Amino acid sequence: MTAVEPQDESPRDVAIVGLGPVGATLANLLGMCGLSVVVIEREKNIHKLPRAVHFDDEVLRVFQTIGVADEVVVNSPFNPGMRFVNNHGHLLLDWPRSPDIGEQLWQTSFHFHQPDLELVLRNALKRFPNVSVITQRQVVAITTLNDGVELTTQHISADNPDTTTIRAKYVVGCDGARSVVRQSMKAEVLDLGFRERWLVVDVLLNENKAELGDYTIQYCDADRPATYVRGPLNRRRWEIAVHDSEDSEKISSGESVWKLLSRWLKPSEATIERVAVYTFHSLLSKQWCGDRLLLAGDSAHQMPPFMGQGMCAGIRDAANLAWKLKACIDGHSSDRLLDTYQAERYPHVRHYIETAIQLGNLINACDSKQALQHVFNQGVGSAKMKTTTPPLGQCMVDNIHAGLLAPQVLLTNQRKIDDEAGYCSVLLLAADFPVDIPPRELLIGSGIFVITSEEQSGVQKLLTRYKSNAIFIRPDRYILGTANTTDELIELIDIAHANGLLALHGKSVA
Ligand SMILES: Cc1cc2nc3c(=O)[nH]c(=O)nc-3n(C[C@H](O)[C@H](O)[C@H](O)COP(=O)(O)OP(=O)(O)OC[C@H]3O[C@@H](n4cnc5c(N)ncnc54)[C@H](O)[C@@H]3O)c2cc1C
Repeated sequence: MTAVEPQDESPRDVAIVGLGPVGATLANLLGMCGLSVVVIEREKNIHKLPRAVHFDDEVLRVFQTIGVADEVVVNSPFNPGMRFVNNHGHLLLDWPRSPDIGEQLWQTSFHFHQPDLELVLRNALKRFPNVSVITQRQVVAITTLNDGVELTTQHISADNPDTTTIRAKYVVGCDGARSVVRQSMKAEVLDLGFRERWLVVDVLLNENKAELGDYTIQYCDADRPATYVRGPLNRRRWEIAVHDSEDSEKISSGESVWKLLSRWLKPSEATIERVAVYTFHSLLSKQWCGDRLLLAGDSAHQMPPFMGQGMCAGIRDAANLAWKLKACIDGHSSDRLLDTYQAERYPHVRHYIETAIQLGNLINACDSKQALQHVFNQGVGSAKMKTTTPPLGQCMVDNIHAGLLAPQVLLTNQRKIDDEAGYCSVLLLAADFPVDIPPRELLIGSGIFVITSEEQSGVQKLLTRYKSNAIFIRPDRYILGTANTTDELIELIDIAHANGLLALHGKSVA
């Protein structure tokens, strides 16, 4: 990790507050873009206690962009799905995941150990001399200046709490649920109404216990709802609802935990790695950006973990934001581009929060049959849930495909297109597209990865699927828009130009 002298006062392009999974992902993306970045993290070491245990293929594709997907996936077992069962063990709702490679060119769902992932992301930052990390300092004050932001940081040691200042053009608060950046923005928080205490128990099995299975099981038991999750190797997790009348400390005692686990495990079968009571929330900051301050990850939104999507949403924030910051800092777009960040991401993450709340209501329901009917309009036993990938909110282009997550093209040399393209815009073109569009060389010279259906059959498949002659894909892998005529494509390219999408050279690190 590049060490920064606390007295170093040279202004950075971006200061990131917090080096959790979201801050680390954003720092990698901005590092790839060649921006000067400083990350300030309060803790000395990676948080040892995992919270997130699941991520999906979209998130793995972001890790692919950063160049760490293979390293991450090797320790992340495939997740075959989630089953909701009632207290008689009857299946209420099934959410299966196919083990096949999906549209993102990865399997669709994984379990992982959060400290391992964070280590990979932190180590990857060492590749970038333009990214510095300062640990054991916390941001205690934020002042917006005319041309940037000044952060006051304080050493965490009680004996030596000296303060220093750091300046940056933009500050991104990846500083979690109690975000100091969000407080500094005076952003109001919308509460979508879910608030429950759950006990989280992580164990290491002493020996394999195959009957626990690989599926995530949601025990829909109004008296004591619970979740079982398979982790990598011998790691297993239980999340168990805590009654209002129960004391967090008492329920976390060894005796109480083993009593609660007795349905699945005997003390001789596993070692408890950690026990903690969390309050699950459903919160959304009403403001994500303003005065050169931005929020990403838990600082902007929090959701109950029933879909395993809280961190995933934060990683999507990072992917959406990084290229926009690059475009603004390099002067290829005005700051107004940053307003599209909240406009696109807020409704997207709200969809996940609301779905997670619905699942929470099903898990908690006294009458699960009625809940299933009410929430999913489906009957017991037959109910199946499908993975949803909502479009982004209000998009830059009025186009039927704008804001959809683009599938990844497999090239004829068996390389994935993102590995060839890097973190930049991609234009997929029909071989016979009218020739009077800006010449291909000009597009490539302006930072777009252009590829035709003549060169790659995978391109034709996507063009056919979207009934289009051209697909413009943004660096975050969402579709800017599709076109069928020269005029439509020129309009798309003009919009891309106005939004700084033509000048991004985030080189591939694969
Ligand atoms: C029980 C549980 C299970 C979950 N399961 C899943 C799951 O399966 N899948 C999933 O996607 N999500 C899951 N989540 C959600 C996920 O854990 C979070 O969304 C994710 O960790 C948030 O990442 P972050 O980087 O935004 O914030 P954090 O991980 O909270 O990181 C914030 C960082 O900022 C630092 N910081 C804070 N304030 C300051 C300051 N003033 N100065 C300097 N540094 C500061 C902190 O030390 C910390 O390192 C789960 C959550 C819980 C509680």
